[in-house]
Order: sequence, then structure tokens, then C-alpha cells
Amino acid sequence: MMPASPSMLMRNRTWLIALAAYAVIVVPLMMTGLLYADVVVTAGIFFILVMAMDLLFGCAGLLSFGHIGFFAIGAYAPAVLAKFFAAPLFSGTLAGLAVNLVLALTLGRVFLRLSGSYFMLGTLAFGIMVHAVIRTWYPVTGGDAGLGDIPRVAIGTLSPQMSLALVIWVTAALLFWFSLNLSSSRVGRALRAIRGDAVSAACCGVDVARLRINLFALSACYASISGSLFAAYNGAVHPDSFALSALLDVLLMLFFGGEGTIWGALIGVTLLRVLPDVSGPLQAGKILFSGVLFAVIIFLFPMGVAGALKDGVKRFARARSGARTSEAAAGTSGSATVAPGRGAAGDTVTAVTGAVGLRAAGAAGGMPAAVIEVEGLGQSFGGLRAVDAVSFSVEAGSIRSLIGPNGAGKSTMLNLLSGVQPVREGRVTGLGQPLAGLSPDRIARLGVRRTFQHERLFPHLSVIENVMVGCESGSDGSVGDLVRCGLALPSTRAEAQRARAASLVWLERIGLADRADDAVSELPHGLRKLVEVARAVAAVPQVLLLDETAAGLNATEKARLKTLLRSLRAEGVTTLLIEHDMAFVMDISDRILVLDFGRLIAEGPPDVVRRDPAVLAAYLGA
Ligand code: ADP
Ligand code: MG
Repeated sequence: MMPASPSMLMRNRTWLIALAAYAVIVVPLMMTGLLYADVVVTAGIFFILVMAMDLLFGCAGLLSFGHIGFFAIGAYAPAVLAKFFAAPLFSGTLAGLAVNLVLALTLGRVFLRLSGSYFMLGTLAFGIMVHAVIRTWYPVTGGDAGLGDIPRVAIGTLSPQMSLALVIWVTAALLFWFSLNLSSSRVGRALRAIRGDAVSAACCGVDVARLRINLFALSACYASISGSLFAAYNGAVHPDSFALSALLDVLLMLFFGGEGTIWGALIGVTLLRVLPDVSGPLQAGKILFSGVLFAVIIFLFPMGVAGALKDGVKRFARARSGARTSEAAAGTSGSATVAPGRGAAGDTVTAVTGAVGLRAAGAAGGMPAAVIEVEGLGQSFGGLRAVDAVSFSVEAGSIRSLIGPNGAGKSTMLNLLSGVQPVREGRVTGLGQPLAGLSPDRIARLGVRRTFQHERLFPHLSVIENVMVGCESGSDGSVGDLVRCGLALPSTRAEAQRARAASLVWLERIGLADRADDAVSELPHGLRKLVEVARAVAAVPQVLLLDETAAGLNATEKARLKTLLRSLRAEGVTTLLIEHDMAFVMDISDRILVLDFGRLIAEGPPDVVRRDPAVLAAYLGA
């Protein structure tokens, strides 16, 4: 059985606290009759819409202003279908979903190519266009008059209003459950990885483009459902409900609640829908109230109520575990503080090394096969030849160093091998197949993993979650993966537990198991570079590409890295590493490649390269 990690416990505890806080606010208000059922029901509708925004922004860092458009289409679809075909509510909802799905998949393909603020502007344009269309397409949407007579639903003997309230909150609860699962799963980690660093996420095997498009579509579906429920509840639709001011309300709910937590949406929606309606005087100055609130949130709680709550719980958990650690240290049972899950982790490491061992045996069977073959590889930046007609091959299960002065083209070479830069000149074969033309995530999934010269960890994930993204190869971004993770199928949950256990083993191997649940920003530079190595090796890659990893490590950390690289070689992993520390390079490499001005000037075992006159002249400056 997998022990629950502190972060898992914390996550569960925090959202339990959130639900408790919710009940504490809502139940007494309802019982005293201060809170109208109407407000609670519309809170459910907006909860779905804000969750949609949070999945997109809080997880993947994409702030969409177009969701008010999807919401509007979701609302108008049942109204229009009822008017022209007397269609029941359910078919209207489905029609809205279908239209939004097609729109989201199409728009996603265009907008998601735009970065940051351009994505926001693109989606904003869409939102404004939808609003303009519903206001002016009089024959279909009723223009400024809107549409009425949306069919009602009735469940059993319940009144239509109660039936709808039930439908709304059951739908909201189901989508809440789905979103929480998604957000804490492999897909959630992949999304946060993309939010932090899309290139580095791709190099861990995340299919960035596909995942973002499918998430955008999923989130548009949420907005659509929310829109249809909104129309059904009001019995009519009017363009004013879908104007930019409505979008601002939704954004306020998202940021007030706290983005990135999903349950923050519940708090944001409730407080912002409930509070002003409860307190009469505030209602009069609602816009002023919203403006002041926005300013307060931005200055005082940039992470919203949920963020502040989470912070509090984390500090509390820290203080308690600190107290427990010192208790344990004082008593005789000091081993109680050793990382839990050693048993599970131990099993995994056997499985892991077993797999590699087989590969090494295969390679040792005959002549060592070349794992990487590079022929006539070139790359120009303008007039600069960063890599110039380079050819070499690396045998399986060896450590090869790539050295050369600054600007020699070493990092560019790694970028070409890992697909970060497309190969335009020459051939690259990896693991027996051409790598040119493959995307970085495809190459990563084939078993080629890398680190970066300037560390590129995922700041929105903890240390162990960073390693887990590497271990589980992120996500292929398919609809199937989203659904599996959203439903939290037992198989996906078991996979996640295995990935956590295996990642913990890798952290133990680099001596960082006790920092597993820390934020990466809390680690010093050298340790962060080691975490990046763990993230790369956690997938048990066949080829490991390291760019100046030892730079910035102290002597102990360097020794740890050396031990790790040697044991990986024994397990059959092929390593190509860029390094400036000559003692490190000479000690660990089987063979060395020397680049100068993009050209390969020497190649051979350390003692030969060390004496090579061209190398001495170019590299050592002798
Ligand atoms: P090294 O890693 O050996 O220090 P790099 O591969 O980073 O060298 O760079 C090789 C040369 O290519 C340098 O002159 C660098 O300025 C240039 N270069 C690298 N990447 C780019 C880029 N994306 N655009 C323009 N020039 C680049
Ligand atoms: Mg470099």
C-alpha cells in the first residue's frame, strides 16, 4: 500500500476545510431565511463556469476571455431550439455542447498558437463577437429583446424550480469531482508543467499542443453546460447577461476564490454571489464593491481565499511535522522519520533497474550498438554556423562528453538531438530511428531525456511532482487520457502511486528524499540541478543528455552526480554530457567530443583528447 504523502493529505484536508467553510457560511444563512435559494442555485451555475476558467488558467496558465462566448452559446442553444423546433431542454443543451465543441477545437488550434496576452486578446475578440451576434441576429436570437419560453424540467413530483436546482447542483458536484481528479492527476501535473515551462514539459514527453487544445475544448464544454443551465433556470435569455461586465464578475470570482485549486472557485462564487445579495446596502453599490474587492485581492491576497487557506494549512502541517520530527529524534525510534514508503519504493527500484538491466544485457550480447548517430549535422543562426557538418556516433551504455569553449555550439547540438530545435541539415538517428522531424515530446517518449544549461524546473510543482512528470512522461494529451484521469480510474490512480514511489527512489538516489514535498523555489541552485537530473532519469531513458549539470554543484553534489551517472551506465543508460569541469570530464567519460566554432575538432578517449594539439590550441588556449 502506498503511504499518503504530506501533499496528498494536505490537498484532501484543505478542500475538506473549504467545504466545511462553505457549509458554515451557507447553511445558517439559508436557515435564517437571509439567503434565498435563488442565489444558491445561481451560485451552482457560476461555479461550473468559474471551474472551467480555473482548469484553463489555474492549471495551464491560459486566461480565456472567450468563455463568456461559450457560455452565451450554451444558453442560446436551448432557447433557439425551443423557439424553432419546440425541442426539449436536453436536446438544446446537447446542441450547445456540439457547437461549442466544434468552435473550441477550431479556435483552440488558432488561439493556442498565440502566446500569453495575445491568447487573451484573441479569446476576448471571440467573446465580443458572440455578444455582437446575439444582439444583432434578430430573427434567430431575438436581438435586444432576447428569447423566452425555455422549456422547464420536472423530476418526479418536485416542482420545476426544485428539479432544476437539483440538476444544477448534481451537475456542479460531478464536474467538481471530475476537475479535482484531473487537477491532481498526471494530466494536472502536465498542465502545471506547461504553465511553468512548455519547452521543458515537451522534453518530459508532454504533448503540449494536443493537451492544451483538448483542455480548452473540455473547458468550453463546462462553460456550455453552465450556459444551458443558466438559460433553463431563468426561463429566458437576454444579451445583457453575456456582456463584458458579466465576464468581469466571473473573473472576480476566479481570483477572489483563488486560482489553481478548483475548490477556490466554490468559495469565490459563493462569497461573491451570496455576500452582496445578503447585505442589502452593498447591492446598491455592486460595481463599486466589485472594483474595491478586485483591488484588495490583487494587493492583499494575490492567491485568493483558497491560496491563503492553503498557505495556512501548509504552515500548520509544517509546524506539526516539525514538532513530530523533534519528538522522534528525542526518543529512541529515530527511524520513524525516514521517508515512508520505503517498501513500495524498494519494489519499484527493483522493477526499474530490472528493466534497464535487460537492456544492458542486450547491448552487451554482441558489438555495442550505436544509440545515437549524427551525420553532417548543421545549424545556422543568420550568418553564424553554430553547428557545422558534425558527424559522430555514441555506443549504447557509454558516457560521452561534449566539450568546447563557450559558443562552440554544444547546447545547440543538444537542442537538435532533443527536437527543441528542428533538424534542417544532416541526419540524426536515435535508438535506430530517424529523429529529424519528430517533436520534442515524441523524442522524449522514445526514451531520450535531457536537462538544460539554465535549469528549467516547473515552478508550479513540488520537487517530487517535478520528478513524477518525468517518470510518467507527462501526458499524451489525448481525450482518453483526460477522461481516464478525470474519472480517477483505479488503474490511473495505481499508476500515479507507482510514479510517486519510483520518483521518491530517484530522489533518494540523489540524496533529496527529505525535500520531496518542498516547492522547487525553496531549493538552492545546485540541488535544483540535481532535481532536473532526477526528472530526466526518472523515465529510465535509454539516452540521457545533460547540459552543464555539474556547473554550480558543490564537491559533494558533484560526487553524487558522478556516482549516479556511473550506476546508470552500469544499468545500460547512454549519457551525452556537456561539461566544463575538466577533472569531472576526464574522470567519467568513456570518450570525448570536442567542438570549436561549431566544428568537431577532436574525438577519442580522455587521454588521447587531453594531448591533442588542436584541442590544446582551441580549447585550453595553450
Ligand atoms: P555553447 O553551448 O557551446 O556555449 P551554443 O550552442 O549555446 O554554444 O551557441 C552556439 C552559438 O550559436 C553561439 O554563438 C550562440 O550565440 C548562437 N546561438 C545559439 N542559439 C541561438 C539562437 N536561438 N539564435 C541565435 N543564435 C544562437
Ligand atoms: Mg551551452
